[in-house]
Amino acid sequence: MMFLNLQSLPNEHVFSWLLRSYLLSGAANFLSFQKQINIDATKLYANQVFGSGFADIIQIFDNRQKLIPNHTTALLWQVSVGEIVSSKPSSLDSFEHMNEQQFFGHDTSWHACEHCIKADMDRYGISYWHAEHQYPSVFTCFKHLKPLLFAKEPVKNIYFEVLPQNVTTWNRVAPEASQSLIGWQCYLKEVIDLCHTNTSCIAQIKPKIIKYFNVDKYKQREQKLYCERLNLEYEQAMGNQLLQYLFRDYSRENLRGKTNVFSILLINHFKSSGVRNPIYWLAVAYWLKISKQLDVLS
Ligand SMILES: [Zn+2]
Repeated sequence: MMFLNLQSLPNEHVFSWLLRSYLLSGAANFLSFQKQINIDATKLYANQVFGSGFADIIQIFDNRQKLIPNHTTALLWQVSVGEIVSSKPSSLDSFEHMNEQQFFGHDTSWHACEHCIKADMDRYGISYWHAEHQYPSVFTCFKHLKPLLFAKEPVKNIYFEVLPQNVTTWNRVAPEASQSLIGWQCYLKEVIDLCHTNTSCIAQIKPKIIKYFNVDKYKQREQKLYCERLNLEYEQAMGNQLLQYLFRDYSRENLRGKTNVFSILLINHFKSSGVRNPIYWLAVAYWLKISKQLDVLS
């Protein structure tokens, strides 16, 4: 199988690996290349963590323990869904609704670091998309401590064959990184590090949050009021700038239809619809830390 002949590069995202494999294969087009290896993956988004295309790619490489932590951002999703690394490939499909793109204030296209691009070109003669740069809301390269960038014409789907070296104009993911954004990113870095070292701690974040607020002790109507009160407190402590960066709802002048994060996370949390992108859970975890001195990571 020609696909397996190409080695991944350090921390290369699996979709970038797939794209590079095709570009070097000599195949007529990306789709025909994929057909030869029984893949049909056309949604190659930076935030695409689940779905059949993703699961098929993981299965082809056949080394989940190495692949998922080093070549995807899926470990962070353990916050919302529990263990992923040990789960069967087919179960990844059931979380497809969590490939949310449109709810966030921060950019969700493919990101790169100019220092990484240069280092990769020097060393490998080609650039590639790093998995670590694609963690949602992260705006600094953890290796070089330099700003992460997105293409001026955002690269949403690398099915259309774009590597970082093909982009001519870049913008910063966070043009003005204020203290509130830096505080959030430091927290997220702490969580990402824990994802690699202490999975059980990560899997406990969601149950701890649910237990702390204990929304089930209220009757249905009171639950809504309770969540509204919590949301007000949360909004005041988090501040507009961070909320706007995280969630698109807060960027609209008209806040009608704004999501109450506590309603969507806590009410009916046992249903699959209550399972969302980890950023929702981590924003609440961060608020508990800065306002209530409750560290759900400990
Ligand atoms: Zn870098």
